[in-house]
Amino acid sequence: MWERSGVQDTELYRHLLGLTAPWVVSRVELNVSGQQVDVWVEHESGARWRCPGCTRELAVYDHSAERVWRHLDSCQFATQLHARAPRVECPEHGIRQVSLPWAEERSRFTILFERFAIDVLLETDISGAMRVLRISWDEAMHILEKAVARGKQAKRSKPPTLLGVDETSAARGRKYITVVCDLERGTVEHLSEHRRAESLASYYTTLTDEEITAIKAVAMDMHEPYVKATKEHVPDWHRKIVFDRFHVMQQLTIAVDRVRKAEHRDLLANGDRSLVGSKYVWLYSEENLPPRYADRFEQLRAMELKTARAWAIKETLRELWRYKRLSIAKKLWKQWDAWARRSKLAPIVRAAATIRNHIGGIFSYFDNRVTNAMTEGLNGKIQRIKRAAHGYRNTDNFMTAIYFHCGGLDLYPRPRTHAVP
Ligand SMILES: [Zn+2]
Repeated sequence: MWERSGVQDTELYRHLLGLTAPWVVSRVELNVSGQQVDVWVEHESGARWRCPGCTRELAVYDHSAERVWRHLDSCQFATQLHARAPRVECPEHGIRQVSLPWAEERSRFTILFERFAIDVLLETDISGAMRVLRISWDEAMHILEKAVARGKQAKRSKPPTLLGVDETSAARGRKYITVVCDLERGTVEHLSEHRRAESLASYYTTLTDEEITAIKAVAMDMHEPYVKATKEHVPDWHRKIVFDRFHVMQQLTIAVDRVRKAEHRDLLANGDRSLVGSKYVWLYSEENLPPRYADRFEQLRAMELKTARAWAIKETLRELWRYKRLSIAKKLWKQWDAWARRSKLAPIVRAAATIRNHIGGIFSYFDNRVTNAMTEGLNGKIQRIKRAAHGYRNTDNFMTAIYFHCGGLDLYPRPRTHAVP
């Protein structure tokens, strides 16, 4: 039996801890100077328990030494739960400690504390959680790791059929991470180091033949290693790879800027300052041009500049994705390609060649209608995670944080009752 010291406190804490029979609170100690509340939990005698290995119902064999779990604060007082876990002797599994309803195995925190910690971590970052929860960096990172491991384990088994692949820069230096996204759910499905063919292949090899065949489309930029991995692992890859409009147009925007730089240099050599300060004017598409640039842009376009011609070529290709029918889009592209080739603007000629070499993957958009815009959005979120965390000390931690914030996982531990009712 236990000593009842202040029945009201023990009842209050039994409710706060969500304890049910046979568990009861035996003692509550308040330490005002230490800003701490200590709660001792015991079980009624005669209770029976399930073996964690086989759920066989057994009597108590003995108790392990007292352990302490951090619980949610009581009015800013750090609250510690103390208990000795019962052990059972199972004929099949030997002497085992039973599962405790308030904590996961080997955790130093109660489940309710961990659930709260996960909410805090979702709203802030590691250092924010350290301040709010008064826990160490290692403890915060450990809660995050466990949440991700739990979420991955609980994940439904069906992998996505519409994939987006992109690279993102890792926590430090020039390292990269390959990000595979579920374009339907808008979540990060898989992460691997580097941006090599093996990086993407490491995702494909986790899938069964059926799951690979079920892939309908893989949206990506024209990054050869990703193309290579997809060719090697995905049957019918030529119908499934989709080169994203955003990246195709990005290539042309870069080409226009190169034309401008070269032309500006030539003009300046002859004392012509027409293109001074015009860089940003050319980076916009026509409908997005800010009003403050409108007059300048009209003047420049009227001047028969090479840059203006390059810009017009770029803008014309943007129409491609507006067509509903592939046959019409193909016709437009052929005309465009001939125009670009004849332009004598070297950066445009090169960009057109790149597009020609990838045209199958650009046209497969018309079958799938997927874009990588979602992946781009997730990538923005990933970069915010990176900045907020001041570096996760290593790439593994950074990847864990990405899964935590972007994985769409069920991160929370669930309270359980393992005593026999
Ligand atoms: Zn057993």
